[in-house]
Amino acid sequence: MTARVDRWPGVELGPKDIEGRVVTSVRYRPAAKFAWSAGEAMSRFLAELQRGRLIARQCNTCRRILFPPRMFCEECYRPTDAWVYVRDTGTIETYSVSYLDTDARRITEPIFVGVVSIDGASPRMGIMHYFGEVTKEEIRIGMPVQAKWRPAEDRVGSVLDIEYFRPVREGGR
Ligand SMILES: [Zn+2]
Repeated sequence: MTARVDRWPGVELGPKDIEGRVVTSVRYRPAAKFAWSAGEAMSRFLAELQRGRLIARQCNTCRRILFPPRMFCEECYRPTDAWVYVRDTGTIETYSVSYLDTDARRITEPIFVGVVSIDGASPRMGIMHYFGEVTKEEIRIGMPVQAKWRPAEDRVGSVLDIEYFRPVREGGR
């Protein structure tokens, strides 16, 4: 004969029992410090961002310029050969008009996110980023854009050292 548990013994606790100190509780803040290595290619990429430059890796076999930079060419199956700077201009490859912010809260003014392919890199090599100074009526695939950099003193070596990509206006490219 099999014993079945149809009710768990004991009493369920809710937030009121903890906050109301009905039961004994301990508050504890763990010191969970950690370090993470970005790797050779990404480390240089982030350091160059802080200097206001975009850098890629060239493969001398397939002649492609890989951006973001990678130390290994997945097509040739060999290490890449050289660092090359690319421009901070590019083209919108794809985008979304989002009425949710980064915390998934509803917003009335949309944000634009998408992929920008970078001038000087091989076709369709690019990064995901925000688009700004553009309306949802204006934004389109194929639109030429340029990085809007944060002031040098505010850059920290992050992809957000570029605030967003904005449309290239007349004579701006
Ligand atoms: Zn290659």
